[in-house]
Amino acid sequence: MSNLVDALRERRTLSDKGLRELLESDDEGLVEVLHRNAREVAVEQFGKVIWLRALIEWSNVCRNDCLYCGIRRSNPNIVRYSLTKDEILQACDRAWRLGLRTFVLQGGENPPAAEKLAPVVAEMRASWPEAAITLSLGELPYDTYALLRRSGANRYLLRHETANPAHYGRLHPAGMKFENRLACLHSIRELGYKTGTGMMVGSPFQTMDDLIADIRFLESFRPDMIGLGPFLPHHDTPFRDFPAGSADLTLRIYSILRLMLPQAWIPATTALATLRPDGRTAGILAGANVVMPNFTPVARRGSYALYDGKSRPGAEAAETLQQLKSELDTIGYHV
Ligand code: SAM
Repeated sequence: MSNLVDALRERRTLSDKGLRELLESDDEGLVEVLHRNAREVAVEQFGKVIWLRALIEWSNVCRNDCLYCGIRRSNPNIVRYSLTKDEILQACDRAWRLGLRTFVLQGGENPPAAEKLAPVVAEMRASWPEAAITLSLGELPYDTYALLRRSGANRYLLRHETANPAHYGRLHPAGMKFENRLACLHSIRELGYKTGTGMMVGSPFQTMDDLIADIRFLESFRPDMIGLGPFLPHHDTPFRDFPAGSADLTLRIYSILRLMLPQAWIPATTALATLRPDGRTAGILAGANVVMPNFTPVARRGSYALYDGKSRPGAEAAETLQQLKSELDTIGYHV
């Protein structure tokens, strides 16, 4: 069976049957071969270097009502906030001083507020001309994407969430359509943003066929960045009683994608680190090459609760940068 891994590594693709075998196999030796090959490819591409991105959760105000998400519009039990320009710039400054060179502004979907972020992005660009500025603000009008791009943002993350339109319909309220998400992704790319997409592993109603379709979608879309983590339930959402996604399956998918798309930036996500205390190192040993420490002001973190357990100290906090560096050191990697 390990010749499946050889074939994937060599040809950078695999049949659906082969993918299914890699995803479902209970042969631990095979899984280890998969992870080993993926980390070899990651090391060939990037060396034993992990790239840090400063995550700034700038607002939890959201017009959307995604059924899985704790900051969905119809959750009345969270305190809504938006960071001020000064708070955003202070978070960037702190990250820059600690050596981070990419700022990621993430938030709920709120097109008028996104438009008002343009001068903030412009100020970030002027203050840190060499930084990468990544946005993750959901589906916006083309003109707003264009405005933010002109203001200095150069990367955009928008997960496709699931490549099966019927499954997409079960995760989102009526009115949200997979085709709109796809159109946004194409606009983002056309505007010259480095583009990231991805999905949750183990989201409610997801089948193995859906996951294979997601992998195929990523294979053909060829994103620059891939955001991928396990689904985790949030107690104030309609999906409160669904089980969390599997860390093992998430790690297998990191490895498969590393072998398919060797140059992709793949973060070991916060959701994985929330599910499994060693999620960051396990992700790296499966082929991930990015970690996103959280630079949101501590007082606001509890309110950016996408899923239960998210603000657990250690899972993501920038305060533990030294701890992260030592963790990486134990597996022979550095930032
Ligand atoms: N509003 C922007 C958007 O929709 O792209 C960015 C923020 S959104 C909260 C960021 C990502 O969080 C989503 O793409 C989704 O995959 C992930 N997410 C939300 N709820 C989650 C949950 N319960 N478990 C795991 N990931 C979740």
